[in-house]
Amino acid sequence: THPKEKTLTTTLRHEGRTALVTGGSRGIGRAISRRLGREGALVAVHYGHDRAAAERTVKEIEADGGRAFPVHAELGVPGDADTLWEAFDRALAEQDARPGVDVLVNNAGITLPRRIADVTEADYDRVFAVNTKAPFFIVQRGLDRLRDGGRIVNVSSVATRVAFPPIVAYTMTKAALDYLTLSLAQELGPRGITVNSVAPGYTETEINPTLNIPEIRRRYSDASVFGRLGAPADIADVVSFVASDDARWVTGQWIDASGGVHLGV
Ligand code: NAD
Repeated sequence: THPKEKTLTTTLRHEGRTALVTGGSRGIGRAISRRLGREGALVAVHYGHDRAAAERTVKEIEADGGRAFPVHAELGVPGDADTLWEAFDRALAEQDARPGVDVLVNNAGITLPRRIADVTEADYDRVFAVNTKAPFFIVQRGLDRLRDGGRIVNVSSVATRVAFPPIVAYTMTKAALDYLTLSLAQELGPRGITVNSVAPGYTETEINPTLNIPEIRRRYSDASVFGRLGAPADIADVVSFVASDDARWVTGQWIDASGGVHLGV
């Protein structure tokens, strides 16, 4: 755990808000859920398969003095966005919380570590279904639930700004997501809703099992100007800022949270 994950904030900048974090049970999503929860948001911790992990994250938020509940929906399957929102609505009603959402974080994602020659059509469809199509329809089906003045944060990747052939299809899904950010910022601006992408670099989570290999770990750490991997909290803190009132004048942006991995050679 990065020491910042233990930091208690004194200002509750998300007090009174409801947040939905997709893939919120582990990795970067867990850190985002915890950070928003610590700052006063009622957090819907979405998960795909691992209910126990989602319940653990909920308990952690409660232990920090926050409020949270799990929401289940498998993403990347037909109707996923409706399933998600219906589960969200039901859970909110059970919590006796008012309907609607202030902060939507499209964080859930899968990787595809293959060069173009090795990507099957099924691989391609799957990574787009989870990383691009799901956020698109989650926003579309959520338009009436999103409160005016709300926030959408899309978790992108630093790989969209540098060529990185070993994950070509994955990078394309995130580049498309960045365009969703830009387009939605324009469309939802009149409602006071900001839409931004936050782009992690190499971050220590289970998405990347090769981080256990010392040589790869060193290479990825050295890619940052700070000489270390990102911690989930490094990303969560940026998301929390982007979702806060302090970032009210920031929209349609792609915000690097990579420790400067693409600054030079
Ligand atoms: P992770 O694998 O720990 O988390 C991904 C989350 O998405 C999990 O909670 C998982 O359950 C959920 N998810 C994946 N597929 C799903 C599906 N079909 N249905 C429902 N839920 C599903 O990895 P992470 O690193 O925490 O990833 C979070 C986001 O950050 C992803 O969008 C990822 O692309 C992005 N990202 C990560 C890194 C990194 O180095 N870790 C770098 C850049 C971007």
